[in-house]
Amino acid sequence: MDANGIPYDMWAVVFRNRGDAVVDLVPAPRSPEHSWALARIRVHASMVCASDRKILDGKFPATAFPHIPGHEFAGEVVDVGDGVFDIEPGMRVAPEAHVGCGECERCLEGLYNLCMNYGKPGHWHIGFTKAGGLAEYVTLPVKALHKLPDNISFAQGAWTDNLGVALWALERGAMRGGERVAVIGSGAIGLCAAQLARGLGAASVTLVGRGERLSRVARFADDVISDVQARQRKGQFDLVVEFAGTADGAALSIALARRGGRVVLGGATGAGVELSGVDLSQIVRGHLDIFGSVANPKGVTARALELLRRGLVDVEPLITHHFQLRDFQEAWTTFTERREGAIRVMLHPVEGS
Ligand SMILES: [Zn+2]
Ligand SMILES: [Zn+2]
Repeated sequence: MDANGIPYDMWAVVFRNRGDAVVDLVPAPRSPEHSWALARIRVHASMVCASDRKILDGKFPATAFPHIPGHEFAGEVVDVGDGVFDIEPGMRVAPEAHVGCGECERCLEGLYNLCMNYGKPGHWHIGFTKAGGLAEYVTLPVKALHKLPDNISFAQGAWTDNLGVALWALERGAMRGGERVAVIGSGAIGLCAAQLARGLGAASVTLVGRGERLSRVARFADDVISDVQARQRKGQFDLVVEFAGTADGAALSIALARRGGRVVLGGATGAGVELSGVDLSQIVRGHLDIFGSVANPKGVTARALELLRRGLVDVEPLITHHFQLRDFQEAWTTFTERREGAIRVMLHPVEGS
């Protein structure tokens, strides 16, 4: 153990190579001490998401193996380095995944999710280009951290980044109270977006998804329909937010927007999904505003946490399974094979937490 009582080794999920994931004993991050503006965190709750699958499949070129994944988590600050003013040991925190370089034009605008220096020193994409939180400990830049409200558990706090992503998409689309909103995609982020739209006062929220999951997510929207049913609803929505990540989902989103409406495409974050078969007059004569949306500026995520604190969004029912970190393989199979209706699986590196 070091001076702060932290063991020199820790258990972590390690992606050793493409398709090769294990739980292994690895060196724990050292105390930040005189490192600038870093905090070491003991992870209490940590989720896997579809992005982790892409990383393990080798579809994320910026990730170097071996790699500790995990970008949706929450924990407790153990110690901090120099230049840290607002974060103290003992605080309960959750990160957002993107930390910009802080120097480029986009970062200086506050849009560090669009940092021009991705992957270079000074830029962090937690759990992607840097070690993440599917481990007992992780060291992060303090500028990634949000303090958790007192009434928010670690498991709820692990949704911090996801909620920021969902709220940013609604804000990109300039959602107003009283509007008819459609959300395409019934995955975890889509379910967050649907709840947030409702919490922000939408006249109605229609969730469009597929598969047997639809019946189980009915309570998160006013109306839950299949993509086939959605084709009967063309031109009916003021705002359409897409988190399906498919070309079909994007085309459907454009078709569902009313004349002069807005469409936010947020699902296809990886390269290689092409949109074809869309009649451009739908956009031009339809006078549509179409926005891309990726990740989440930090101020937006802070507001999303307030909405969680107020109970306007409920993430508990989206956590369908809990596992200890050492049971990662079972958690991974449950998640990737959608066993027992899995939406999100939560891993707990601290025994009993
Ligand atoms: Zn994720
Ligand atoms: Zn930058």
